[in-house]
Amino acid sequence: MNNLSRYAALYIIGVVTLVGLSYAIYQFSTQSIEFQKQILVKQAQTHYFDQINTRKWNASYGGVYAFAKVGEEPNPYLKDNTLKTDDNRTLIKINPAWMTRQLSEISNIKDFHFRITSLNPINPNNKATPFEKRALEHIEKTRETEYYELAENNQFNYMGSLVTTKDCLVCHEVQGYKVGDIRGGISVSLDSSEYNLFVTDTKNKSFLSISLIFLFLSAIIFLIKKQIANNEYLKLEVEKRTKEIKLTQELLQQILDADLSLLIVTDGENLVFTNKTALDFFGLNSLEEFRDKFQHISDIFEKTDKKDFLQQYIDGQHWIDYLQKKQYEKELKVLIKKDARNRYFKPHAKKISVENETLYLIIFNDITKHYEKIEQLKEEAARDTLTKLFNRGKFNDVLAQSMVLSQTTSSPLSIIFLDIDHFKTVNDTLGHNVGDEVLVEIAEIISSAVREGDFVARWGGEEFIITLQSTNKAQATTLAEKIRKRVEGHTFKSAGKQAISLGVTEYICNESRKSLTDRVDKALYDAKQSGRNRVVTY
Ligand code: GH3
Ligand code: MG
Ligand code: MG
Repeated sequence: MNNLSRYAALYIIGVVTLVGLSYAIYQFSTQSIEFQKQILVKQAQTHYFDQINTRKWNASYGGVYAFAKVGEEPNPYLKDNTLKTDDNRTLIKINPAWMTRQLSEISNIKDFHFRITSLNPINPNNKATPFEKRALEHIEKTRETEYYELAENNQFNYMGSLVTTKDCLVCHEVQGYKVGDIRGGISVSLDSSEYNLFVTDTKNKSFLSISLIFLFLSAIIFLIKKQIANNEYLKLEVEKRTKEIKLTQELLQQILDADLSLLIVTDGENLVFTNKTALDFFGLNSLEEFRDKFQHISDIFEKTDKKDFLQQYIDGQHWIDYLQKKQYEKELKVLIKKDARNRYFKPHAKKISVENETLYLIIFNDITKHYEKIEQLKEEAARDTLTKLFNRGKFNDVLAQSMVLSQTTSSPLSIIFLDIDHFKTVNDTLGHNVGDEVLVEIAEIISSAVREGDFVARWGGEEFIITLQSTNKAQATTLAEKIRKRVEGHTFKSAGKQAISLGVTEYICNESRKSLTDRVDKALYDAKQSGRNRVVTY
């Protein structure tokens, strides 16, 4: 329903209610006025019937005789109008008409009077007034028994008919009346000022009531209309705001989706939001699919022994707490596998508050290229450019780790230190390049002789060092001898036959790196001193 229809319905209801209530008030006031009028009529009728009864009584005696008052003459219009008493006093005849007139004269007081009248009176005093004439003509014409009018001068005029009876013919036969003819009437006048006041008061009250109802309805319609308009305004405002929010959301979603980082929002337990980049990365279509696939967000983290990589719990702390605390002091990373390829991310966490709920915005920046480059550089930095073996720096790190491992696992650790015999001569006689070739070939021989897990490095110059995890010095000596023999048996491309001397020793629990390397250096020194091309074990 649109507003126009609402307004139309509102006005129709308003008008119908107004008309209905006005009609009810009008009916009520009209009936009240009519009721008051009927009280006047009843009053008039009471007087009228009083007279009729009195007249009946008088007529039933054919008129009555009474002593004349002073100055009163017998009625000349009456037959036998006097009668002598035995003591010769004169009685005058008073017929119904005269009696009525006399009664009417004494009843002529302020609020009420009545009189007998006729269109054709015997006594000219009974001649009809204009109202009486109208009333009698009406009664004659309609054969109704009464007629009444409200006059302007606060008078209620009533006329009751006088129907000719047998008794009446005594006097009125001469006028040609027959039984049943309407001969005239008795008019009664009452003061109607109270009735008029009532009418005015009722009309005023009705008008006032209708006016109040009109005002009340108008006010209600105005208020409802205002409310409808207000509702409409609010509806439009809500629509506008909803549209704005939707636009902002879409814009935000697009911005977040355009970001190449994986972006997720979690309440600490459950995933609340993820951008499209994250969904696409895992080949998923919706947040629900993401939730189905990964119970915890940390399930996406690949387990690794590498340092500074996040796992579900680190140092006894949940990874989000850990990340928040350490993200600025440590180079924290996350390893995620995609299509069997390692992808590296730098995570960043931010606590946010949305509608009093604490959420965590976690951003994973893809640093795979950067990370792999660094790793490559690190690898390169750890290697000797000529032989491609690890260099001394890297060796020192590895040896330190191996010593810790050996100590914690109580497994043996041995090292072999080797040096090319009379290498200076190779350089001096065959040139530096040939010397380099020899170094490379020796490196290859050593690398092919050791097992996987053994660690070979170029110590410097023409010296090499090997770390042998889980190997005691007897086993290490055997390997050293094997390498020595392979070198001895190898014919170098440009340098023919060469030989090496080797020192072997085993790590003694809790000793320092220097003590260990000094001891193996001593073994090598002794190998040189005792004639070269041999293995000495300490
Ligand atoms: P010894 O049997 O006592 O070890 O005799 P040596 O001649 O091998 O010992 P020395 O320490 O006197 O000589 C080592 C030589 O190795 C000196 C140096 O010219 C050579 N050398 C060191 N690094 C390289 C390198 O990278 N390339 C080449 N071609 N020669 C190198
Ligand atoms: Mg040397
Ligand atoms: Mg040497």
